[in-house]
Amino acid sequence: MYEPEPIRFWQDPAVVETFRREVNAVDEGPVVHVPMVIERPMTSDEKIASVDPADPDRLIAEAASASTEEVDRAVASCAAVQDEWAAIPMPDRTRLVRSMADWMRTHRDHLAARQVFEAGKPWSEADADVCEAIDFCMYYAEMAERLAAGEPVLSPPGERNEMFYRPRGVTAVIGPWNFPFAIPTGMTVAALVAGNTVCLKPAEQTPWIAYGIVEAALGAGVPEEVLAFLPGEGEVAGARLVDHPDVATIAFTGSRQVGFSILEAVGTVRPGQVQIKRAITELGGKNAMFIDADADLDDAIPAVAASSFGFAGQKCSAASRLVVYEDQADQVVDRLIAHAETLVVGHPRAPETTVGPVVDEEAHARLLAAIRDTQGRVRYQHGDVPERGWFVPPTIVDRVPDDDPLVTQEQFGPILAVQPATDLDHVVELMNRSDFALTAGIFSRSPQVIARLPARIAAGNIYINRAITGAVVGRQPFGGFRHSGVGAKAGGPDYLKHFCDAVVVTENTLRQGFAADQLLATERGRVPIVSEREHE
Ligand code: NAD
Repeated sequence: MYEPEPIRFWQDPAVVETFRREVNAVDEGPVVHVPMVIERPMTSDEKIASVDPADPDRLIAEAASASTEEVDRAVASCAAVQDEWAAIPMPDRTRLVRSMADWMRTHRDHLAARQVFEAGKPWSEADADVCEAIDFCMYYAEMAERLAAGEPVLSPPGERNEMFYRPRGVTAVIGPWNFPFAIPTGMTVAALVAGNTVCLKPAEQTPWIAYGIVEAALGAGVPEEVLAFLPGEGEVAGARLVDHPDVATIAFTGSRQVGFSILEAVGTVRPGQVQIKRAITELGGKNAMFIDADADLDDAIPAVAASSFGFAGQKCSAASRLVVYEDQADQVVDRLIAHAETLVVGHPRAPETTVGPVVDEEAHARLLAAIRDTQGRVRYQHGDVPERGWFVPPTIVDRVPDDDPLVTQEQFGPILAVQPATDLDHVVELMNRSDFALTAGIFSRSPQVIARLPARIAAGNIYINRAITGAVVGRQPFGGFRHSGVGAKAGGPDYLKHFCDAVVVTENTLRQGFAADQLLATERGRVPIVSEREHE
């Protein structure tokens, strides 16, 4: 039975020492060259540079950059082995995916250390990302065994019905940089274990981290031809994958803007395209938490701070809005400020860092402008922020007007907008006033509120009396609705079905008449005519 991979116990000095060695090894290591893989590792003339967001002058990796022609070659190569891969018995495919998890366990600290430098993740966040990737492998392997059994359907006397799932074909996996290992691993292994070949395009910012998926697959014995790796520009390699007539499914996690463009593109059937494309799009959020009048602030404050400022607010599930009752707003904000003072903003190579940099220059400039231009009252900005690197101070803004971009747009940074409410209906109105519906949080000690409020909140994942980040595979199937995505629920029991077409076979088992040879014999007068019922 699947069990989530336990995260590291950081209180143990031996754990800290072992991880420190990996961090130092990456820190002192050379610039890494990341190939693309189309049947074999190869390079390209064009390159993508990934830098350390906490020290942007430092080049971490230089990756090949796939052109449209290379994408076409990768899709053709995956299409050529699609039938062969689909024909591999499920137990063999699940064994390979479980072996990928083993490979990740063996290289766990190194995979996490890559994230410290290429994605700017603090230690525990980096480790949790690798754990989640392992969870996806183990959970989807188990779900694939269930999938292979098909779904039960009714079979009345005289009729045999069977429902099973067949892989859809070449799958494009297009991933984000914020969970740069776990999310593309989840989409990739789901597609693979369900019998599809995969062209994986990682985010421009994090190709080295995502290359770990290919290393895990090859280390586990997955044939090279079934998983192409195509680092490259979104508008080039990503767009070509989306448009390619031989790509059957697109698994995308990223921004609303790109997700919508993909959904539009899959509506066009191109010349030579034999099947309607399917797009699994998991997009952004503008997530709100509510602290009720009777909530225990000792629990609520650290949970809100972790949800807002963890990984510098760059989780799709992060809290960017806080709704509190008018007469408690000042007390709650004061407590939040006191907590935010304890955050350590710095280079994630240091174990004590709790808030690292934001991912790139564009995000850095955009977030600082959003803080500068808000019409709300900036109550707090963390004062101790490194000069060098793309650091944005954890920020709390109070009394934010309804039309302020801090409450209307996904900012994806460590900024929390506080909105006061007059009564519970107003709470519901404020929380639901968003195009998105991804996560939401409620802190309350009232059984009525706990029982009734979730049904009134528009969010795919609602958390009560805890932080709203950190969904665990198999425990909190994850995904939203409205503009947050198609609600495929990654890490949930139905996820693999999105990578398959369902087939139902119906056999009439009540013989009417005779089989041809019997009919011949009857015509010759040798077989007596008997009814089906008499046979029984
Ligand atoms: P992004 O949309 O900018 O990029 C995601 C991927 O799409 C990258 O690999 C990029 O190269 C590619 N891409 C860009 N343009 C493309 C195009 N025209 N055609 C095809 N591919 C293209 O998103 P991001 O900045 O990497 O990630 C942050 C976003 O992801 C946030 O909005 C966040 O909320 C969202 N996100 C959602 C979830 C979820 O489960 N709902 C999880 C993580 C992140």
